[in-house]
Amino acid sequence: MRSAHATQDTYRCLFHNVECAAKVGTPRTPAEYREVLARISADKRRQWYDWTRSIRENKHEDGWLQLHDVMQPVFDVSKLDLTATVKCKPIKLRLKDHCVTAVMCQIRTDHDKTLIRQSAMQKRTSLFALMFAEDGTLLNANQAALRKFGPDCLESNTFHLKDLFMEGCCPGGQAEAIAAYEKAYEACFKLGVESYRHPIPRISSKTGELKWSMMEMWPMTDPITGKPAVLVIVHNITQQKRLELQLAQRHEALQREKDALQQEARSLAQRLEAVIHDKFIPKSHIDADTPIDKTLNFLHAFIAGAEPSVQSALDIYHVLTESNTDLRQPVGLESQLLQKSSMDTEVGMSMLQLLTGPAAFREGTNPDPEGSSMPSRKSLSRQTSMLKGTDRCQQVLISEASISASLTPQLERMLQDADTNWQFDIFAFSAQAEGHALSLLSFHFFERFNVAEKFGMDPVKLATFVRVIEKGYDPQNPYHNSTHVASVVQMTHLLLHQGGVAKVMTDSQICSTYYAALIHDFEHLGVNNDYLIKTFHPLAVMYNDISPLENHHVAAAVRVMFRPECMFCQRLATDTALFRPVVVNQVLGTDMKKHFDITSRFQMLLKCADIGHLAAAPDTHKRWAYQLEEEFFQQGDREKEIGLPVSPLMDRSNKGGITRSQMGFFSIVGLPMFKAMADVFEGAQPMLDGVMANYRSWEAAAAAADNPG
Ligand SMILES: [Zn+2]
Repeated sequence: MRSAHATQDTYRCLFHNVECAAKVGTPRTPAEYREVLARISADKRRQWYDWTRSIRENKHEDGWLQLHDVMQPVFDVSKLDLTATVKCKPIKLRLKDHCVTAVMCQIRTDHDKTLIRQSAMQKRTSLFALMFAEDGTLLNANQAALRKFGPDCLESNTFHLKDLFMEGCCPGGQAEAIAAYEKAYEACFKLGVESYRHPIPRISSKTGELKWSMMEMWPMTDPITGKPAVLVIVHNITQQKRLELQLAQRHEALQREKDALQQEARSLAQRLEAVIHDKFIPKSHIDADTPIDKTLNFLHAFIAGAEPSVQSALDIYHVLTESNTDLRQPVGLESQLLQKSSMDTEVGMSMLQLLTGPAAFREGTNPDPEGSSMPSRKSLSRQTSMLKGTDRCQQVLISEASISASLTPQLERMLQDADTNWQFDIFAFSAQAEGHALSLLSFHFFERFNVAEKFGMDPVKLATFVRVIEKGYDPQNPYHNSTHVASVVQMTHLLLHQGGVAKVMTDSQICSTYYAALIHDFEHLGVNNDYLIKTFHPLAVMYNDISPLENHHVAAAVRVMFRPECMFCQRLATDTALFRPVVVNQVLGTDMKKHFDITSRFQMLLKCADIGHLAAAPDTHKRWAYQLEEEFFQQGDREKEIGLPVSPLMDRSNKGGITRSQMGFFSIVGLPMFKAMADVFEGAQPMLDGVMANYRSWEAAAAAADNPG
C-alpha cells in the first residue's frame, strides 16, 4: 500500500485501491476490509459496491458525494464532520510489477451547512415546488413534485403549467380549470403581481375523493436564463377546506336555529302583546300618552334599531304641533273622553274634570254668562267656617312611654304584618288601633328605619308631631281621613323597602318620603280642588287656584312642625332645607291635575301609594272606592245646597257615582302608572298584580251589568 500523495492541501487521502482506505479509517488490509464488509447490512454493502463500481467506471469525475451517505457503511467516520463531502477521482498507479486502480479523495469539511440542510428539507417536504418558464414549460421541480408527476416530466419537456391546473380536475371542470390557469398566467406574467393564490378542487387518482389544493404562485427570474419564470408551490388544503365546510354547515345550522328562535320569539312577543293589549288597554281605548311620551317612544324604537317610518315621524310632528305648548298633557284628551261612544258622557266628564279641572275654568270654555253657577254670598260664608274646623288639633300631649304602652299583642302582630304585606288589611288594623292607626304605623316604621336616631331628632317631639298631624285628619271624611293616610304610609313603606325604591334613595330622601306620606292630605276638607276654586274658598284664593289643597297640606304641616312642642328637627334650618323641596314636590304631585306631569320617582312613589288601594285586597279596595264615592256624593250635596251644578258622578240621585268610572280610571291612570313603577322597580310587581286583579273584577262586574241574566 502506498501512502497518500497529496498534491494539494485539500487532498486528504489516497486509497491504495477502491477496496482499501488509507487514511480515513480502518481497515487497512484486505482481510480487515472483508471482515468489516461482512459485519454491515447487505443493503449497505450493495451501496458500497455500487459506489466503488461507479468510481472505477469514472462516473464521479466532478461529483461531490456526501461523506456520510457513502463512506459510513464502511469507515468509522464518527471522528469526521458528518456534513463533510468527498470528491473522488480514480487514478492508475503503476507499481513495480503491476498497475492498480486507486482513488484519490478530496474530503471537504467546510461545506455550507445551511445549503445542506436546505437540500435535506427540499428532499423531505411533501409540498410540490415547480418552476415554469414564461412559455409554460417546466424548468425544475423538487423531489416531491418529481415523485408525483414522474421523473421524466423534467426531461421530456412535455409537462406544462396548464397541466398542473388540469391535473385531476373534476369531471366537467375542464373549462373552469383552463379559465383559472389563464387568469393565474395573466396575473403572474402580465400584471406583475407579487404573488397569486388560487384554490382548486381535484379528484384524487388513488381514492376518487374530492381534494383541495392551494396553488401559490410567485413570479421570479430564472437564474440560468435571466428570463421571467414562476415558482409554483402546491399544497394540500383538503383538511382546511373540510373544516371550512363543516364550519359553514354548522354556521348555517345555527343560523337556521337562530331564525327559528327569532320567529318563535316574534310570535311569542305578538302573543304577549295581544295578551297585554287585552290586559291593559280597555275596550274604549283612550290615547293618554303625552307628546313627550310619544316622542320618547319614537326615539326608543329608533335607538332599539327599528326603522322609523315617515308616517310615524309625521304623527310625532302633528302631535308636537297640535299640542300648543303643553308637552306634558295628552293631546285631545277632552274629545277622546267625551266623544268615545263606549264611555258614558258623565263618566268621561268626571275623568276629564279629574285630570284637567272643572269645565267652567278650562281654557277656551266660557263661564256660565247668567252667573247661575256662581255660589251665593251665604254659601261663601259657610266655606270660611269650614276652615275653622281644621283647628281641631290644638293640643296633643304625649309622653315617650305612651307611644308603645298601648300596643296589644294583636296590634304588634299586625304591625309586623304591615312590614311586608301588599294586601295589608288597613280597616282591621284601624279598628284595633282605635283612631291611632296612622300614628302607630308611623311610629313603627320610624322605629324600623331608625329615623329619630339617624337624624338626631327628638323622639317625643316627633311623636307629638305625628299625633297632631293624625288629629288634623277629619274622621268625618268618608275617604280623606287618617285611615286613608295610614294606608298610604304603609304602601309607601312597602314601595320603599319591598319594591326596592329605597335602594336608589339617600337616607334623608327616605325620611322625607315617610314625612310626605304622613302629611300628604293634612286637613283635607272632604271636597276637591275644583269645589274650592268654584266656591272661592280662602285656600283657593290664597294659592291662586293652583292645587289649593295640596299646597295647604304641606304648608299647614310645616306650621305644625314649627310649634315648640312639635319641633322634632333639632337642626331645623339644615334639616328642613333638605326635606322641604322633596316633600313639596311629592305632595304637590298628588294633585290629579298634575297626573301627566309627574316626573321624578319620588312623585311617582307617593302617587302610587296615594291610590295604593287599587292594589289592595278586593274587599278593601271596593270599600275604599265606595267611601270615595260617598265623599263625592257629599260634595254633590253641598253643590246642590249652594246652587252649583253638581259635578259629574257626584249626584247621589243619579244612577251611580265614581264606581261607574273605575275601569276608565284604572286604564288611563292606575295601570300605566303601576306598570311604569313595576317596570323600573321589579319588587313592586305584587302591587301591579293586585291592581290587575281589581281591574279584572271591575271588568267582570261591568260585563255582568251589560248582560244581565
Ligand atoms: Zn291621599
